[in-house]
Order: sequence, then C-alpha cells, then structure tokens
Amino acid sequence: MIKKRLVLKFSPQVVNRPIISALSRKCDISFNILQATITQNKVGRMILEMEGSKKNIDAACAFFKKSGVSFQRLGEDIKMDEKKCVSCGVCIGYCPTGAFSFDAEKKVVFDPKKCIACEFCVTHCPYNAMTLKY
Ligand code: SF4
Ligand code: SF4
Repeated sequence: MIKKRLVLKFSPQVVNRPIISALSRKCDISFNILQATITQNKVGRMILEMEGSKKNIDAACAFFKKSGVSFQRLGEDIKMDEKKCVSCGVCIGYCPTGAFSFDAEKKVVFDPKKCIACEFCVTHCPYNAMTLKY
C-alpha cells in the first residue's frame, strides 16, 4: 500500500463533471479530499490524498488524465523564491505541517514533501517569496 497526495486541476470544461464520484467506482483506492476550491475563472483545484496499491493508484492517475484533469504531486505547486526570501521566519509560525525550518546558517529552508498547499505562507509572507502555481 502506498499513499500519494496530488493537486488536481479541473478546467472550466470539466469542473462540473462528477469525476471524483466516478473515481470511487472505477478505482479500488481510498481517498481523502484535503482541500477543494474554485477560482473566479471557474478553475477547480483539489488536494487529494489517495491510498492503495501502486497499480490502483497508477490507474487512478491514468483515469484523471483520460478525464482531462491535470495533476501534480503536492508541494510542487508551492514555490519559494529564494531571491525574495529574507529568512525572517514568519512562515515557520504559520505553516501547520512544519514544512519550514532554519538551517545551521539561520536560513529558512522549505521542504515541499511536507507541504499540504494550505497557502498560509503565500498569504502571510511579507516579502511575497511564496507563490502558488495555478
Ligand atoms: S515569511 Fe517569506 S521571507 Fe520570511 S522566511 Fe518565510 S518565505 Fe522567507
Ligand atoms: S502552503 Fe501551507 S503547508 Fe505548504 S509550506 Fe505553506 S504554510 Fe506550509
């Protein structure tokens, strides 16, 4: 059994389709919706945690592709611009998963593997060093 967390993007053409309910019928995996939002221009964004055999998780990813839903692994969506970051540490206090830490040189480092894309750092970084790719 493996776990995989994905950020799914639903274009305006597919956002109203019942893709997630079809997923539960077609693929033998368990999943949790960690976050779901829809932007003003009708692009859906969902953070999904899936658990199952590698074969079934690969089948779920193939199903998303076939359904026109783009996806990427969680954390790849949130970027740190190291040129803008001044290592003030504000994000450390806001991040619920401990994705930021100080290294030995007191520089703030970001671990995308721990990120659940909650966007708190994006909205609270005073230097706009954290961004979300849509
Ligand atoms: S809040 Fe922004 S500038 Fe401060 S450490 Fe975090 S990413 Fe860097
Ligand atoms: S998006 Fe949320 S979980 Fe990810 S690094 Fe920022 S505060 Fe932490």
